[in-house]
Amino acid sequence: MKPVPFDYVRPTSIEETCALLAADGDARVIAGGQSLVPMLAMRLARPARLIDILRLPELSGVRDDGNTVVIGAATRQAATEHHPLIKAKAPLLAKVFPWIGHPATRRRGTIGGSIAHADPSAEIPLVVATLDAEIVVREASGETTINAGEFFLGPMVTAIPQGGLLTEIRLPVWSQPRLGVSFHEVNARHSDFAFVCAAAQVGFDETTHCTACAVGIGGLGEFPVRLDRAAKALIGTDLDHAAIADAVDAAMAELDIWGDLHASAEYRRRVGGVLARRALIDARQAALECPQ
Ligand SMILES: Cc1cc2nc3c(=O)[nH]c(=O)nc-3n(C[C@H](O)[C@H](O)[C@H](O)COP(=O)(O)OP(=O)(O)OC[C@H]3O[C@@H](n4cnc5c(N)ncnc54)[C@H](O)[C@@H]3O)c2cc1C
Repeated sequence: MKPVPFDYVRPTSIEETCALLAADGDARVIAGGQSLVPMLAMRLARPARLIDILRLPELSGVRDDGNTVVIGAATRQAATEHHPLIKAKAPLLAKVFPWIGHPATRRRGTIGGSIAHADPSAEIPLVVATLDAEIVVREASGETTINAGEFFLGPMVTAIPQGGLLTEIRLPVWSQPRLGVSFHEVNARHSDFAFVCAAAQVGFDETTHCTACAVGIGGLGEFPVRLDRAAKALIGTDLDHAAIADAVDAAMAELDIWGDLHASAEYRRRVGGVLARRALIDARQAALECPQ
C-alpha cells in the first residue's frame, strides 16, 4: 500500500517545530522514519502533515553534563553507538546497539525516535527504563522532564502530550570505581525485535560488595520494566548466584506477563528470569574485572 497524501515541512528550530505541532493536531513528527514510514505505508498512521526534525542541529549530539550524559533526540543511533562519551559513561547503552535492526537502520534511526515509538521489546527504551533516565519534552507552552518510570504507558504509548516534542534524554552517570554492564536477548533472527531481553548495570566498591544495581526486562508486557525490588535486595551483597536467583525470582513473581503469537506468557516468564539472572551474573563479572 501507499501512504495517504500528506504535507511535509522541515522546520529550522525547536520553537518552530513546537509551533507547527501546536497549530495542527493532525501533524506528526518524523525523525529517522524507520518505524513511521512502514506505518504510513500500511496506513496504520495517517497524519495530514509530517514535520521532519532529523536535521535540526539543536536536537543532535551527545554531551557530558557532569552527573548525566545528555543525548539529543534526533541523534542517530549509529552516531551514538560509536561515540566515545557513550562508551565511557553510558556503557549499558553502548552495549545494546548491535542488537537493534541493521547498520542501515541504525544510520537513519534516532535515539528519540526509538523512545517515542515505545515498542515494548525495543532495546533503547529498555536501557532508559533500567537506568531510570530522564526524558525532556518541549511544547509551545514550555519544557517538562519525565522520569522513565512514568514515561512508558503502554505499547507505543508514552507520556508525550499531544503537540509535544521529545528533545533530549539524560542518562545518569554512575560513580562507582568498578562498573559492569550486560545485555541478553532472545529473538527469531539477530536483527529482529526481541521476544524477551534483559539489561543489567552493577557497581562495586574496592571490595566485592555491590553498591549499586539496576536490572530491567523488555518484551514481557506493555512496556519495559525495571526490577526495583531485585536491585534493592542485591545492593550490599556480593552478587553471588544464589542471591541473584532469589532476588530475580521474587521480582518475576510480581509481574503480569503477556503472551502472543510469538511466545506464550509462560515462555516469556521463564526466559525473562533466565536472561535477567544471566545479565546480572555477567555484569558482576565485568565489574570485578575492571581495573581499579
Ligand atoms: C528492518 C528494521 C529492523 C528493526 N529492528 C529493530 C530492533 O531490533 N530493535 C528496535 O528497537 N528497533 C528496531 N527497528 C526500529 C528502529 O530502531 C527505529 O529507528 C526506531 O523504532 C524509530 O526511530 P526513528 O528515528 O526511525 O523514528 P520514526 O520512525 O521517524 O518515528 C517513530 C515514532 O516516534 C515519533 N517521534 C520520533 N521522534 C520524535 C520526537 N523527537 N518527539 C516526539 N515524537 C517523535 C514519530 O512521530 C513516530 O510516531 C527496526 C526498524 C527496521 C526498519
